[in-house]
Amino acid sequence: MRLVLVGPPGAGKGTQAEVLSNKLGVPHISTGDLFRAHISQQTDLGKEVQEYLDSGELVPDAVTNEMVRARLAQPDAVNGFLLDGFPRNTAQAGVLGGMLAADGHALDAVLEFRIDEDVVVERLLARGRTDDKEEVIRHRQQVYRTETAPLLDYYSDIVVTIDAVGEVDEISERALRALRALK
Ligand code: AMP
Repeated sequence: MRLVLVGPPGAGKGTQAEVLSNKLGVPHISTGDLFRAHISQQTDLGKEVQEYLDSGELVPDAVTNEMVRARLAQPDAVNGFLLDGFPRNTAQAGVLGGMLAADGHALDAVLEFRIDEDVVVERLLARGRTDDKEEVIRHRQQVYRTETAPLLDYYSDIVVTIDAVGEVDEISERALRALRALK
């Protein structure tokens, strides 16, 4: 399956992506994780993107798209993937669509993890990642609303909305049930 996960920061996308990736047998591809790996290895790309991650701004599309293009070309992603954190705006979505169409593929579904923003701030502060300071979290939420939420319209015919309030197992069961119902 070719899936995209969408949801506000702190909706638990990363956790759910891990579970679903194991259950579905497709790789979990998180652009945030890929950027953080570059930063910790101090690669040129890592140096280029660090300030964006620190401030909660989106990394420029050209940089992000090429990193994703390279990752999707890896053999493990040929038959499916679970994208977490990409696309983050409709321009990236257009580029992804083009990449897939070039191989005769398309997304099967976009899973929207829906949760109230206020609920997640506390959770993110508890996580303690370097970009989990309250002002950066608020900014990332703002970026989600203006840049990323429009994807839900862009993908309206393939969006599957999952209630992301509850226990991890409960939420992944909801997601798996919704995906089974697609077939
Ligand atoms: P995440 O781990 O998904 O919360 O992403 C952490 C940070 O990585 C974001 O705040 C952005 O700075 C950057 N990032 C991740 N994915 C993207 C993307 N698709 N486009 C631009 N920036 C991204």
